Formats: sequence, C-alpha cells, structure tokens
Amino acid sequence: MDQYDLVVIGAGTTGAYLAAQMAKRGHSVLVIEKLPKTKVGTKYDIFHIENREFARLGIPRPVEGDPAWAFEFEKNYNADPLTLYPKCQLNHVVGLHMHEYTLLLDAQAEAAGAAILYSCEFKDFLYDGKGKIAGVRTRYKGREKKIGARLVADCSGMAAVGRTSLPDAYGVENDKLTDEDMFYVILRYVTLKDPKDYLEGSTFWAYYKSWIAPCADPHGAIIGIGACHSFDYAESVFAEMEQVVPLPDYELVKIEKGRTPYTRNPYSMVTDNFFVSGDAGNLTKSVNGEGVTSSMVQVQLAVNTLDRALKTGRTTRSYMWEINRKYHATQGAEFAMLRALLVGMVNAADFTEFQYAFESGIISDELLGAASGAPLPPGALLAAAKGFVTGIAKKQIRLSTVKAAGKALANAVAIANHYKCFPADETGFYEWTEKADRLYERIGKIK
Ligand SMILES: Cc1cc2nc3c(=O)[nH]c(=O)nc-3n(C[C@H](O)[C@H](O)[C@H](O)COP(=O)(O)OP(=O)(O)OC[C@H]3O[C@@H](n4cnc5c(N)ncnc54)[C@H](O)[C@@H]3O)c2cc1C
Repeated sequence: MDQYDLVVIGAGTTGAYLAAQMAKRGHSVLVIEKLPKTKVGTKYDIFHIENREFARLGIPRPVEGDPAWAFEFEKNYNADPLTLYPKCQLNHVVGLHMHEYTLLLDAQAEAAGAAILYSCEFKDFLYDGKGKIAGVRTRYKGREKKIGARLVADCSGMAAVGRTSLPDAYGVENDKLTDEDMFYVILRYVTLKDPKDYLEGSTFWAYYKSWIAPCADPHGAIIGIGACHSFDYAESVFAEMEQVVPLPDYELVKIEKGRTPYTRNPYSMVTDNFFVSGDAGNLTKSVNGEGVTSSMVQVQLAVNTLDRALKTGRTTRSYMWEINRKYHATQGAEFAMLRALLVGMVNAADFTEFQYAFESGIISDELLGAASGAPLPPGALLAAAKGFVTGIAKKQIRLSTVKAAGKALANAVAIANHYKCFPADETGFYEWTEKADRLYERIGKIK
C-alpha cells in the first residue's frame, strides 16, 4: 500500500493550494480527485478574485491573453432597488475561468512536489487498530485502492465526503448540509444589445442579492442572483427584480446554476489525523457565499501547525487545536459578525426602507468602504445614526426596523466576541459550543 504524509481529498482550488503549501515544506503529498483532469473546475465558468489577494496568498496572477484570464474591472457599484443613488467603490477585481485557474493551481501543487491522482474517488477512511484515521479507501480505474496517510485533509467541496464520513464523536461535526444551509446562485450569461450599456464595472443590488458584472465577452455581462431556500425561490426573486431594476436590454446566451455553503464552519476543523478546509468546511464568506480565497486564508493560518504536527508525529486533535483558535479569533469572528448583521438587516428592512437608506446617505460610500476593509472615517457612524433618526421622523423607517437593526448589531458584537474567546485548548470547548449555539439561535437565518 502506498503511504503519504498527507492525502488531500479534492483537487479544486482549496485542495491544490493546501497540497502546494505542504509539499513546499517537504512533506509527501497525494491529492486524490474523483474527476478526470479535463473536468476539474468545470462546475461553472467565471469567478472573481480581488487583485490584492494574489500577492497576499502567493497564487498565480493570470494576465490578459492567459487561458485563465477573463476580464478585470475596478468600479463596483452598490445600488438601491430603483438604481437612483448608486454608490461607487474602487476595488480591483479579476475575473477568471474556473477550469483553467484550477489547472494552474494543480500545476503549482505538482511543481512543489505533490502528486495528483485524477479519476480517483474517496470512498471511506482506513482506520488503525486504535480506531484512528490511517488513510483512505478509494475507487481507481474500477478497483478498490487503499492509500495510507498520517494526515487526511478533506477539501472535497460541498459534498464534504471526508467530514461527513467521520464516525460520530470522532471530533469534527459530520452533518451533511441541508437545503437551508446553502446559497443558490443563478448566473445568466448575456449579450448586451446596446453598446451604450457595455459594462465598465459591476453593480450589486443588496435588496435582491443580485448583480450585473462583466464577463469574458466585452459586449456581454453576467446577471447573477444568489438566494437562500431553492433555485425556484431565487428565480422568483429574479423575476421580481426584473420588474423594478432598470436592467439593460440583453439576449440570453446561457444559464449556469450552482450552490455554495451558507452556514457556519464546524466549530472544530481538526481532529486526530484529520483537517477540513474549503467548501467542505463551509468556509465561504458570509456576505456573498464566495469561498475561493477565504478558504486559502484558513489554509495559510493552518499550514505551520500542520507542518509541525507532521514533523513531530503529533497529528492529534489537541496538538492541531491552535488552528481552530487562530481561525476563530480572526476570519471566523469576522464572518460570524457579518452573518449576524446581514441576517438581521435583510430580514428587517423592506423595499421603502432600503430605498430611503440609499437616498438619505445612511448607506454611504464610507460605510460600504468599511465593509470591504477600508478604515471607517470618524463621524460616518454618527451620520448613519442621524439618518435613522430623520428617517423615523419622516416615517420612512419603521421603529421595528430600527429595533431589529439594534438587535442585529448586538448579536454581531456578541458572536464576534465569543469567537475571539475560543478556548486555547480542548478544555471548555463544550461550554463554548453551547453558548455559540445559543447565539446562533438568536441570530437566526435569512428568511
Ligand atoms: C455560481 C457560483 C459562483 C461563485 N463565484 C465565486 C467567486 O466569484 N469567487 C469566489 O471566491 N467564490 C465563488 N463561488 C464559491 C466557490 O466556487 C467555492 O467556494 C470554491 O470553489 C470552493 O473550492 P473547494 O476547492 O473547496 O471545492 P471544489 O471547488 O468544489 O473542489 C472540490 C473537489 O473535490 C472533488 N471531490 C468531490 N468528491 C470527491 C471524492 N469522493 N473523491 C475525490 N474527490 C472528490 C471534486 O470533484 C472537486 O474537484 C461561487 C460559487 C458558485 C456556485
């Protein structure tokens, strides 16, 4: 039986990135991927990465003419439902082809020394005499193939084939995602009929969770919608949006549909000889369901610990625990906070209130800038609060909405603080999860 330090399940963006990082540190790494090489990353075509992320994460930055490059833009508008008061944020975004970019990352992993076995499907774990993970049982070329590993990483995407095969009480939550734990994304690739409508940037309508953004064809666009519950529900919101939002005239080229995790990550992402990342660990951004770079951020936080664990022979839950702590104190706290705010605001505000928030400047360039990481200028929150007060006086904002916004803010602060106090070791974890569950109960889900 072949034996590796690390077996990674899934050669998507997360698995390839993790494999490269660990192979670079001198470990023997095998990635098993159920699809043939020609099919990896074909679940949809276009995705976005913010330009600043390439250098931060050390991933290839395709340029015009490269097979993975599709387009880039800087102007990002946020608009009210009627699109009367759009606010522009400058943020350099690169559009990439998922299949070609995944192949680039796979090649980077191989160049670092990792091996990738395509068309090799994970079936189950192998366990040692003490019931600890000791490798994987796979299906390869029509036969069972067993592969030994000191550590197995589940990067198998939403299927989370590794995590959901873990025995109960092995140390990482093994639940499958339910229909209510996903974001349903529908992308309409279109050709714009009137040259005056050709896009310079993207526009996002928060009220409808919809957007129009460039695509590889400079005379085209992608009109997207993301919604909870189901594709049917997403289509019904899109139909409503088309009645209100002044979209340019277009001809439909094709429709792509996909789902992305829209729920919290497992409270522990490590256990004995096991680590989970990517969509398999629900590491998508809580504002928009994007998960390529946010998963890599978690990998970056984890690799030094995984490296030391393998070098010292201590791939145990307790030794690798600091990955949980590091993650929850940083990106985990941020995503939990944003989720609480978003759920509260989206569930509370109606059409008129959204419209008023843009018109009155409650939603300002400064607030939107802060949401994408820019410093919040002094006075911006005060200006928003004044806008609320005027809105109530003018009967444009209901008192119940203000109360709900206050509750959302309180929940957001509470959950972020709780994540920042994640226990330094396994002691106190159970009590921590109980409190986190209670806070999530209060936060609720998007209606
Ligand atoms: C329509 C849509 C648009 C999106 N746009 C963006 C965007 O613009 N930016 C962004 O950051 N995110 C975006 N996302 C989210 C993003 O696609 C995911 O978060 C990201 O691709 C997750 O990568 P991953 O490597 O964790 O999982 P995946 O890309 O799903 O890779 C998992 C791999 O594991 C393999 N696998 C599964 N089961 C097995 C098995 N049994 N054995 C072996 N291998 C297996 C799969 O074949 C796959 O290759 C979008 C999602 C959707 C649906």
